[in-house]
Amino acid sequence: MPLEERARRSRLLAAAAAKTAACRLCAIGSERRNTVYGEGDPCARLMIVGEGPGETEDLLGRPFVGRAGQLLERMLAAIDLAREDVYICNTVKCRPTSPSPRGPKNRAPEPGEMANCRPYLDEQIDIIRPGAILALGAPAAKSFLGREFAIGKMRGIWYEGPLGIPLIATYHPAYLLRQTGGELEGVKRLVWSDLKAVRTKLAELNEPASPGPPEQVGLF
Ligand code: URA
Repeated sequence: MPLEERARRSRLLAAAAAKTAACRLCAIGSERRNTVYGEGDPCARLMIVGEGPGETEDLLGRPFVGRAGQLLERMLAAIDLAREDVYICNTVKCRPTSPSPRGPKNRAPEPGEMANCRPYLDEQIDIIRPGAILALGAPAAKSFLGREFAIGKMRGIWYEGPLGIPLIATYHPAYLLRQTGGELEGVKRLVWSDLKAVRTKLAELNEPASPGPPEQVGLF
């Protein structure tokens, strides 16, 4: 991608991020420490969309920087991608919390919060125009594919996403972190198969007839 185009997209993303930082459409917009707009390569072929920022992300203003983020980086490395090669963001740009005796705790974003944030996500997709979108977890997948989306049955399949961009969903790394033993092995296998589908799609986008690198198993 020419340097001027990269610079143009970076400017557009910075301006869009400033708009989210001024946004107070939801109550969580007044509770956040930082907005978590997104980060990565403005010319990325792959965009990763998670659910919403957690505590560490809210503190640092960056997506996927906690334990789930570390696992996401290992998942990406398994298909030869570095964090810097992709663009990472969330369906909502502020940390959704609910009160608890030990302070605010993470919760899933509400449909209204996702709807309020959607124009920001759509603008981000429009600026980056990725070749493929990977939605992490059911809430992110539902935000694109509708409330009937069932991750167990509908992950690992390519759908038409925003602007006609191919979109696939897999389990959220935070879900993997909650599994143990045989369950963990089973979910890992499914995620690995979804990651290979992403790798194949990216290879097709680069050079339609490429067979792709040899298979490797269990790298994350
Ligand atoms: N989980 C998410 O869905 N997004 C983040 O940014 C971090 C954890």
